Amino acid sequence: MTNLSRRSFIGKMGLVAGASAMGTSLTAFKPFEGKRLNIALVGLGRYAGYLAEGIAVSEYCKVAGIVTGTPSKESIWAKKYGIDKKNIYNYENFDKIAENPDIDLVYVVLPNSMHKEFTIRAARAKKHVIVEKPMALNAIDCLEMIRECQKAGVQLAVGYRLHYEPYNMELKRLGQEKVFGQVRLVQASLGYGMYDIDPSDWHLNKELSGGGPLMNLGVYCTQASRYILGEEPISASAEFAPVIRKDLFYEVEESISWQLHFPSGAVATSTSSYNCSIDRVYAAAENGTFELSPAISYGPFKGRTSKGEFSFPTINQQQTQCDEIAKIILAGKELPNHIAGIEGYKDMRVLDAIYQSAQTGRKVKIGE
Ligand code: NAD
Repeated sequence: MTNLSRRSFIGKMGLVAGASAMGTSLTAFKPFEGKRLNIALVGLGRYAGYLAEGIAVSEYCKVAGIVTGTPSKESIWAKKYGIDKKNIYNYENFDKIAENPDIDLVYVVLPNSMHKEFTIRAARAKKHVIVEKPMALNAIDCLEMIRECQKAGVQLAVGYRLHYEPYNMELKRLGQEKVFGQVRLVQASLGYGMYDIDPSDWHLNKELSGGGPLMNLGVYCTQASRYILGEEPISASAEFAPVIRKDLFYEVEESISWQLHFPSGAVATSTSSYNCSIDRVYAAAENGTFELSPAISYGPFKGRTSKGEFSFPTINQQQTQCDEIAKIILAGKELPNHIAGIEGYKDMRVLDAIYQSAQTGRKVKIGE
């Protein structure tokens, strides 16, 4: 077990309670200045490339290892990021990472269906984990992942980059602080044209992806409505749109629209689609409106309220997310719920209900 995972393990097994009983905090004697969180990226596809670029310019992280099923990528990545040969694994020998003190955290950037397996294997190797969105194929799997990480005494984060993105955090503030009064309606939609996709791409394969644009893009829309309202939805109604490209979309949906109802009476309406371009979050409150468009992609974003435009610096989202998570883990603190596994579970619960409603044609209650 590395120092970082052991520290977290000890913390979770009782020291935290002891420290707080003494009126001290674990962080008080765990300075992290000058330290870096050593990250092993699992799955070296498109998004892992963005993450590696972000980590390369980060303050508190390092791409220290890679896990890949493609041997030709090993030397390219090793050279580009200065990765030691002993920190390179494939999917078969990955579990040996347990014996490697150079790796603190495993970042799972694989097709969705592989998130659960690699999160659990990383946890059993006593490594902290960041898992990409969507956290898993369903909410029950998310719970299993959370339990396994707890059992192993490691922390589990979900790669929710927008939780550190200033425009989106402004939407959260405007909504939750009721700056324009109670929000009554959120419209959050994300889509892009996927008609030039390779028909063998895993995004079109139900077994690997778990679904189409709802899994890939819709998760950001359920997130936006949840963080603007600061509430959990109680029911979902949804409908699949007619399929236009039947040659591509015969396993996963091409487009889906849904409505969520919240305890305050607020409603969120969304579409996620692989056949049109949309990237927008809009909120209508009692006394005004606020919106971003673009809102969810990598930026730059554009923000406006009924009182005028607002702007923030454009950040490197991958760098910021990794640095912010690293600071918490290096300090020996617990990850806050909004970035931890529980947040991924809450989204998957909503996604499960949306699919159930679209499949049955009925409104579905979202339980605890
Ligand atoms: P990708 O297809 O570009 O990369 C997937 C990687 O997994 C490849 O390196 C591939 O070789 C590997 N792989 C291993 N087994 C595989 C299998 N059986 N089939 C296909 N590939 C296999 O995908 P991506 O766009 O990098 O997405 C990876 C994950 O990252 C997904 O969960 C996705 O939702 C997430 N993602 C997140 C963001 C974000 O902004 N947070 C953006 C894009 C993707």
